[in-house]
Amino acid sequence: MKFNTKTIHGGQKIEKGYGAIMPPIYQTSTYAQKSPGKHQGYEYSRTHNPTRTALENSLASIENGKYGLAFGSGLAAIDAVLKLLSPGDEIISTNDLYGGSYRLFTKIFENYNLKFHFTDMQNPTNVEVLINDNTKLIWVETPTNPMMNIIDIKKLSEISKKNNILLAVDNTFATPYLQQPLVLGADIVMHSATKYLAGHSDVVLGALIVNDSYLSERLYFIQNASGAICGPMDSFLTLRGIKTLHVRMQRHCENAEQIANYLDKHPKIEKVYWPGFNFHPNHDVSKQQMNGFGAMISFTSKGNCYESSIKIVESLKIFTLAESLGGVESLAGHPASMTHASIPKEEREKSGVIDSLIRLSVGIEDVEDLINDLKEAIG
Ligand SMILES: *Cc1c(COP(=O)(O)O)cnc(C)c1O
Repeated sequence: MKFNTKTIHGGQKIEKGYGAIMPPIYQTSTYAQKSPGKHQGYEYSRTHNPTRTALENSLASIENGKYGLAFGSGLAAIDAVLKLLSPGDEIISTNDLYGGSYRLFTKIFENYNLKFHFTDMQNPTNVEVLINDNTKLIWVETPTNPMMNIIDIKKLSEISKKNNILLAVDNTFATPYLQQPLVLGADIVMHSATKYLAGHSDVVLGALIVNDSYLSERLYFIQNASGAICGPMDSFLTLRGIKTLHVRMQRHCENAEQIANYLDKHPKIEKVYWPGFNFHPNHDVSKQQMNGFGAMISFTSKGNCYESSIKIVESLKIFTLAESLGGVESLAGHPASMTHASIPKEEREKSGVIDSLIRLSVGIEDVEDLINDLKEAIG
């Protein structure tokens, strides 16, 4: 099966009862047993639920993995990965990282004596120098947020395999439509399915996909033992979203390309961060490992004025000022005052998050309307 067929049919079966095309929302906590332990595969909905199973099979299929696991949020999925580790273990992570992941690592798991190193992975040597006998996990996000740096997954998988370390990739920004980390050698793929996979800004859900059966058993054990699962309704909504992932992503990427080029030529715009430009520092790596360049764009204005960037995001009419990304509607954010406000100015500026930086999640509206909206807001 090829990708566009997998989003619709991958891992799916026609329901036996009435031939329902979509799996029913099995809104139940428990399942009748004929005799103790004699049941039809389902005992209790923390452990398994048929609607969640349908979603988990779909997730595995679209990421080219054998096993999919769904969680109550992206962060719950990351939490499960970290529970594979033991006190004293070390993790090497991307430095330009989703803020919630950074918070989970440093404010929760450091208390359990896990040690995190954050480094610029655009140069894989930076990772190699941090490896020691305690290193158990490399955590990668690519493209990064909000600077759109691209990290070479294949190179890192060679390093992780050589040193017997797990390699996990947060594939939220790219989606399997653009990038398939398991194929590139990663051990674990993670998603905030809240974003592109569900795609309609109506659900919060997380996912893990793996190929190794031992790893999958350990993660299923944690999923059930810790219990951070998603409900049947949210599983259903995410499964429904995945069925149009490929057509949405195609339009997201087409619109983003036009907007990136528009901004790049705008006299008031200083810099545009989007991996599709041939002058993007990691353009070659993105061409190798991605089937397109995504619909997340960041840009800065000439003069780098805090107030005028706030004015731009306030003036937008079709782009909505909001956190999150990946839905059908276009969103804009101002990292310095929103997602990165808690990071000291000097710190955030080191990674490029200056006062005038604006991040766009380009939706699938008519691109002419989106460009006009930006034109009027930027002035
Ligand atoms: C949103 C997001 C997360 C966290 O996912 P939730 O579903 O909000 O818990 C993790 N990584 C990235 C890249 C994200 O954008």
